[in-house]
Amino acid sequence: MQEIDNFLQNNKDWASKVTAEDPTFFEKMAQKQTPELLWIGCSDSRVPAEIIVGAQPGEMFIHRNIANQVIATDFNCLSVIQYAVNVLKVKHIVVCGHYNCGGVRAALSKQNSGLLITNKWLMHIKNVYRLHQAEIDAMPTEYLRVNKLVELNLIEQVHALSHTSIIQESWTKHNSPTLHGWVYDLSDGLLSSLISIKPGDEIHPIYQYVADES
Ligand SMILES: [Zn+2]
Repeated sequence: MQEIDNFLQNNKDWASKVTAEDPTFFEKMAQKQTPELLWIGCSDSRVPAEIIVGAQPGEMFIHRNIANQVIATDFNCLSVIQYAVNVLKVKHIVVCGHYNCGGVRAALSKQNSGLLITNKWLMHIKNVYRLHQAEIDAMPTEYLRVNKLVELNLIEQVHALSHTSIIQESWTKHNSPTLHGWVYDLSDGLLSSLISIKPGDEIHPIYQYVADES
């Protein structure tokens, strides 16, 4: 574990290095941001969003939470999505999960009375498990069961994005953004694409928004 002051010193070193390479870098950054990608990832410290895709400051708008969930009542995540779509007009949204996710593994376990709030957050993943219980239980080891649920949860979260009014309205008005589900493998550092949903793709009727006819 680094001493906390080391992080501040690292920051000074980084800022000096960046300025040496491009004296106008921070001046440009301070003016505005124009990221084309919103990243919704897991809070896990081993999945640092910008680093694993080689992104520079200003290229990605980022939201992270335990097990990369898009929950219809989470105003934190929804606010990020609304700002990214309506103001920044991002072209792509990536939901990124990762194998061996501790949040997903916890969701497959009994509830921990010492983590009452976290239990509630993981409840949605337990529901994904119940939807696909036979497929997940057929996997031969706990590791593989967790990873199967990681994939199914990721796909579920991309669909949940498409169920929001924010995305459906933007698809109608701007034909954007495209939604993607990527999974990251901690053991080799590689990302794989599991799903993408384009503007106008079919959404289950019960999640479609319609004009108020009352
Ligand atoms: Zn995780």
